[in-house]
Amino acid sequence: MASLLWQAKYGVIFSGAGISTRSGIPDFRSPDSGLWAKYDPREVASIGGFVRHPEAFYEWIRPLARTIWDAQPNGAHQATAWLQQQGHIKHIITQNIDGLHQKAGAKGVTEVHGTLYSMTCVLCGRVYQTADYLDELILKGDIPRCPVDQGMLKPNTILFGEQLPYRAIGEARSSAQKADLMLILGTSLEVAPVSELPRYALANNAKLIIINYDKTYLDDQATLVINGDVSEILPQVVAAMQTGKG
Ligand SMILES: [Zn+2]
Repeated sequence: MASLLWQAKYGVIFSGAGISTRSGIPDFRSPDSGLWAKYDPREVASIGGFVRHPEAFYEWIRPLARTIWDAQPNGAHQATAWLQQQGHIKHIITQNIDGLHQKAGAKGVTEVHGTLYSMTCVLCGRVYQTADYLDELILKGDIPRCPVDQGMLKPNTILFGEQLPYRAIGEARSSAQKADLMLILGTSLEVAPVSELPRYALANNAKLIIINYDKTYLDDQATLVINGDVSEILPQVVAAMQTGKG
């Protein structure tokens, strides 16, 4: 695997929920996450659910927001940041809303499912930093509101039934099209349409490395598939590269 990274001229990382589980962040799309205990996220975390029952949405997202706020990047996030700093990886694309790649020092991360770190007023469209509204969002349990017009501030995470961010998807596609190597980390490639991104890389004859617990639909087209915990495997690969043994 290290040799593929050394050879890559335009390496791209595409990460999903599996890279953050060791940081304590549940995959809210997974029925095993515990986040389905009281609510069905497909209802409460859908744009329709948000419009119909905003109180339920904020109640649902509160523990997730608290978890994400307290979470620290793990060895896999740090490994991806190092690979980027060394130039082995040119671009990081993530489905995660947790900002942990950035907390580990990665730059220019494309977040195809949005981020919890900013919020948009549903009335005027002004964008606010979530950090300035943590009291409302997490501690008090109030609905955070726009200081200008009192509109609700909706976290910039992409809800079920919502359009993906146009610019982020464009960035992700164009970078996948340039890739000669794509590392697919901690994603089962089940959430469309972003699950199609590796196809753009394949069309450019890129090699795929997949590190994920479960099988993916592209396993048979990958150069290397490792079924395991990316938070264990990737740091080992990087440590070997750092010490000249890989
Ligand atoms: Zn507003």
